[in-house]
Amino acid sequence: MADIGGLSEAARDDLAELYRDLHRNPEPPFGEVRTAGIVATRLRRAGFEVATGIGGTGVAGVLRSGEGPTVLLRADMDALPLAERTGLPYAGTATVDDAHGERTPLMHACGHDMHVACLIGAADLLAAGRDHWRGTVLAVFQPAEEIAAGARAMLEDGLYERFGAPDVALGQHVFPYPAGTLLHCPGQVLGATETLEVRLHGKGAHGSQPERGIDPVVLAAAVVMRLQTIVSREVAPAERAVVTVARLRAGHAENTIPDEATMTLNIRAFSPDVMRAVLAAVERVVRAEAAASGAPRPPELRTLSSFPATYNDPVATERLVEAFTGRFGAGRVGDLAPMMGSEDFGLFGSAADVPSVFWGLGAADPDRPADGEVPGNHSPLFAPVIEPTLSTGVEALVTAARTFLRTPPDGAARS
Ligand code: ZN
Ligand code: ZN
Repeated sequence: MADIGGLSEAARDDLAELYRDLHRNPEPPFGEVRTAGIVATRLRRAGFEVATGIGGTGVAGVLRSGEGPTVLLRADMDALPLAERTGLPYAGTATVDDAHGERTPLMHACGHDMHVACLIGAADLLAAGRDHWRGTVLAVFQPAEEIAAGARAMLEDGLYERFGAPDVALGQHVFPYPAGTLLHCPGQVLGATETLEVRLHGKGAHGSQPERGIDPVVLAAAVVMRLQTIVSREVAPAERAVVTVARLRAGHAENTIPDEATMTLNIRAFSPDVMRAVLAAVERVVRAEAAASGAPRPPELRTLSSFPATYNDPVATERLVEAFTGRFGAGRVGDLAPMMGSEDFGLFGSAADVPSVFWGLGAADPDRPADGEVPGNHSPLFAPVIEPTLSTGVEALVTAARTFLRTPPDGAARS
């Protein structure tokens, strides 16, 4: 494969500045307006045909270079409702009103700013080196990954009808592994997640007269304890699943039995069968405990978000491991253990019924003394080192795209 080459020092500086700017200006899911504007401008400048506003704030850029496969490269753009505590000079300070009208701080605590900067850098290199490959590059910048909504929104808004379906979908994510490394996991890499809201109905009464009420707090407590037996008693030990009660709310006054309790459940599993069984067990427990308490009405269960499991095509992964090893050396290519976290990246592959690969990009400071834990994704202290993370991420995307794009017969040719 003729070499497209790495980033020049000027390009590296420019991308580092772009990264710091994105980090300083985090935006919420479906509110990535500024980010999308920057992305669109940069893609156009590189020579991509660009469309904005796909599925809300999504951006797609297309670059064609003759006949060949279509390779989708994906970055996500949204930040998290978190107050940054990294102390970095380019720490984010933006805030946003949440669903309850409360002012909430924002932080790029999952590294999506790094994903955007890397894909912009890769788009520049692929455009500059387009004589070295044949096919189509589809650069996708999706909104709202953190709420499992952005990939679906772009697909439902006709991403593939408008730009053509890809032959392979590729994406990367920064993780607290040593910066400069690339991590692979063939097969199942991330779990599926379902988030449910459960509303339990009781009957309010004076705090001194429990016999006149039906206490939803006691009902909720019984539900919480009973839910703990699903994974421990109903899921086979070799399988993986998690049931977490992430939020539990009831009552206002100190002398009153409230009339309802609400809880948010975060449920994770790798296998669809296990997920189905766990969800059925959750519903059974919630309904049975409500009945056991004599609840005046059955409980209500509502799905808040739903992430599919992320599956890496083993053959495509193997090709990337080979290509990355050739480009970066075996010492910088490693294994990624399957994780219970979730992503909506997998939808880009499954929607077109084509292979997809999602690899890890190490972002932790390799010089950091090994005396403590490196802050991970979603920590208010999460602080990827810009280099070598950025240039590795750019070159990984270019290398991965080139692995699936066609190389012209003479390796380079035409100018
Ligand atoms: Zn995240
Ligand atoms: Zn993320």
